[in-house]
Amino acid sequence: MSPAGNVLLLPWPALGHLSPMLQFGQRLVAKGLTATIVTTRYINKIADLQADPVAVATISDGFDEGGFYSAANLEEYLRTLVEVGSRTLSELIEERAAAAAPFTCMVYDTFTPWAADVAKRHGLLTVAFSTQSCAVSAIYYYVNKGILEVPKEGEKAAPEGMPEMVRSDFPSFVFDESRKGSQLTMATVALNQFNVKKDDLVLFNSFDELENKVTESLKKYMRVTNIGPCVPLSAASYGVPFTEVADETCMRWLDGNPAGSTVYVSFGSIASLSTAQMSELAAGLEASGKRFLWVVRSEERNKLPPEFLQRPPERGLVVRWCPQLRVLSHPAVGCFLTHCGWNSTLEALSFGVPMVAFGLWSDQPTDAKCVEDVWGVGVRVRTAAETGLVAREEIERCVRAVMEGERSEEMRRNSRRLKDSARKALSKGGSSDTNIDELVAFVNRKAA
Ligand code: UDP
Repeated sequence: MSPAGNVLLLPWPALGHLSPMLQFGQRLVAKGLTATIVTTRYINKIADLQADPVAVATISDGFDEGGFYSAANLEEYLRTLVEVGSRTLSELIEERAAAAAPFTCMVYDTFTPWAADVAKRHGLLTVAFSTQSCAVSAIYYYVNKGILEVPKEGEKAAPEGMPEMVRSDFPSFVFDESRKGSQLTMATVALNQFNVKKDDLVLFNSFDELENKVTESLKKYMRVTNIGPCVPLSAASYGVPFTEVADETCMRWLDGNPAGSTVYVSFGSIASLSTAQMSELAAGLEASGKRFLWVVRSEERNKLPPEFLQRPPERGLVVRWCPQLRVLSHPAVGCFLTHCGWNSTLEALSFGVPMVAFGLWSDQPTDAKCVEDVWGVGVRVRTAAETGLVAREEIERCVRAVMEGERSEEMRRNSRRLKDSARKALSKGGSSDTNIDELVAFVNRKAA
């Protein structure tokens, strides 16, 4: 038998990128490959990774103690990540080769194209991995290559394979003028992530049935291969808790709530709301008359109206962090009010929970657009032009629309249908499963 491929998985150093790549790595190992996930020392310290059977190794981003937060600014962080990351990644690859356990392939995050250069120098097969939707990735690619013009205020554009979109439907980095310069910013990272050739293999954390049209369009420019959703389909097996311990009280509290009665509210691991927006959200949830479980991270907590935390918790519980997959799979949860990070969106789709889509920046507005207009699994909040806020009345309207409105049943049906498609895609012989089998065969052939 030929030797199995030995894969180095390199996510961008953030939880939202680490978690899907780890899920993917676990599937590769289940199909006979060996895999090691490589994180920065700082991320490894805070993430409390339960990666088994994937091995874990670390490199340095130059900020081993505080990661991104200890850099003077974003540009310094990004520059140091490329410099120190390239060097320490190269050392790791050499160490493994010297120990007669050489990596044969690197799956690298599309946000780290510099890592592909390192891997190629060492003769590794390189495969790109995008943790955003095909739609968002396609927009970045089309805008960067001049295939698509971002519409002006009041105008519309229809990117290939997508419905007509107004400016506020686009991922926010396309509006960042720094994307055109040489300075390193998140906009330049996002826009330049697909410097690939037509036969370069790019894996997407998505599935054909979800993003069929845009997947086909993008295939004109790169070898798009959907391998998702990279979500553990059983909530119990979630492997990346933060060290800020998951809160069991919320599970017990949910157990006491009737089926479909509760709105789950979370803005993910990074997003921050203004104090005024927190007040509107709190008032809107109260006004909806629904039960709610709201994740407010420690650093956001002082923005809550003081009287809000003192109210009795029967109708609404505020926690600092929760086991999101267990929450989404709990029968009491009838709606997810989400910032539409791609992981949260895929998790809601995989567990069949309809959404109130409250996208803030980056890829989230485009994900929110798809939730409402492409997949019909939720409604999107509208921001008031005068205040720049999503008003309490709007929160109340959207929660009611999803929980009990005229189209509520239709959204629930669409959610159930996509939940089934997500599960089928990853089952034996499903679209993503077949794509992973082909990838594994390819990696093994190259290793032989
Ligand atoms: N998450 C969690 N508990 C929480 C809030 C979030 O486990 O209380 C997880 C969630 O399941 C998801 C990730 O954190 O996998 C957030 O990723 P996403 O891409 O949605 O947003 P980001 O944090 O990158 O903005």
